[in-house]
Amino acid sequence: MKFSKLKLTTPYLKLDPLFFDEVEPTPLDNPFVISTSQDAAKLLGIDEDLNLDEKLLEIVNGSIKLEGSQTFAMCYAGHQFGHFSPRLGDGRAINLGKINGQNLQLKGSGLTLYSREGDGRAVLRSSIREYLMSEAMHGLGIATSRALALIGSDTDVARERWEKGAIVLRLSPTWVRFGTFEYFNSQRKTSMLQDLADYVLKESFPHLVGEEDCYMKMYAEIVKNTATTIAGWISVGFNHGVLNTDNMSIDGRTIDYGPFAFLDDYESHYVCNHTDHEGRYSFKSQIGIGHWNLERLAMALSPIINYEYACAILDTVYYEAYEDAYLARMRKRLGLFVDNQSDKGFIGSMLGSLSNATIDFNLFFRKLSSYDGNKTPLLDIAVSRAPIEKFLAMYDERLKKETLSQNERHQKMLGVNPKYILKNHILQMAIENAKIDDFTMVNDLLKVALSPCEEHVELEYLCIATPQKAKNIKLSCSS
Ligand code: AMP
Ligand code: MG
Repeated sequence: MKFSKLKLTTPYLKLDPLFFDEVEPTPLDNPFVISTSQDAAKLLGIDEDLNLDEKLLEIVNGSIKLEGSQTFAMCYAGHQFGHFSPRLGDGRAINLGKINGQNLQLKGSGLTLYSREGDGRAVLRSSIREYLMSEAMHGLGIATSRALALIGSDTDVARERWEKGAIVLRLSPTWVRFGTFEYFNSQRKTSMLQDLADYVLKESFPHLVGEEDCYMKMYAEIVKNTATTIAGWISVGFNHGVLNTDNMSIDGRTIDYGPFAFLDDYESHYVCNHTDHEGRYSFKSQIGIGHWNLERLAMALSPIINYEYACAILDTVYYEAYEDAYLARMRKRLGLFVDNQSDKGFIGSMLGSLSNATIDFNLFFRKLSSYDGNKTPLLDIAVSRAPIEKFLAMYDERLKKETLSQNERHQKMLGVNPKYILKNHILQMAIENAKIDDFTMVNDLLKVALSPCEEHVELEYLCIATPQKAKNIKLSCSS
């Protein structure tokens, strides 16, 4: 199957016109393909090389349409940094339609009814980041929207300085956000809220259609999925940066990559978003913010579910699901396979040691994956060695309870502890090269993003240590 031969459907357009704005994309000038993800294309049933598809560029640029495609932007509201914005919506994203359970969306394709004071564009810098991070999150086994193609252009876009416009073709099983429900609740449009709930049930939770209390059950699943995704972030050291309710996917996957970052040295209070002065969305706060956002969703759903009961579900399901998912991931990272009640405490004290040692979070786990009793490789990457010595003494004790051989443990750990992490300093190098039309690094990063635990001998330059001055820096939100 070829990309340009896909036939799309547009079930969202069967909802009331208040849900969307039917709008045409505004193509960029002199567009060119920068990168494509053949792995993401598989989701659409595409087996032919995207780069050989002569119509790919025009479709991503919005100058021609796939069969069945009717283009539209979606309306939503959202709590931004704790404050309710009653009307947001896709200000620079335009949906193309759906195939194989994936909704295709262009980001950066021009003005819509919801653009407010924005220009409907996305700059090359932020588009490279979103394109690569979508694929990297998938490579880390964490639920996420995907990215099929990235195109650049000659179109000038005004930010702090002039930059070039780009478009990412994104895929997701749903683009409905917590904020979509908040929009209809704040408008007091209860029948439309219910239509939206039915739409989401059918699209994202089909096994619940027709069940008794289906909306409450749907809410409980959203709680569980959200907790599981956030547990994934915390276990790999990912900080999303803008966890507003309009950036929370209704099926719990990661969406809307902006000023995200991976931890360099382990620092639980790290804040990646330069504009987040209070640290509302700091690395560690993500857990509590997930809960807060889910409470906003319970409120938005209150015309069709019992709010108090939903909050009770939230309190019981959220932290339990979070902890189960978090412990499962961390135990694998540590090579611990025999059940042990004290592992939660063990992991807690390990984090204390990492914090005291000043040590790169992911590099620590990668090195630990070859730990054979020789402490030097781990001690050498810490600023303070004593906390790591203390941890390794505890780890040696804990390993005595394990039954796997050292070699088997190493193999398993090397399979879950990434060697390649999309650190901002590496992304920045790829962006600087792309600005002078060298896209090699973007494409090299795509390869390691999709299989981050594998050795890619010829791409070792992508896992260089973060320079001291670039460690745990903050990023601008402008995109
Ligand atoms: P974000 O912080 O990227 O999730 O964006 C928040 C809201 O602002 C969303 O409704 C976006 O669609 C909108 N937005 C962000 N940037 C632009 C832009 N350049 N033009 C129009 N709308 C935008
Ligand atoms: Mg957003």
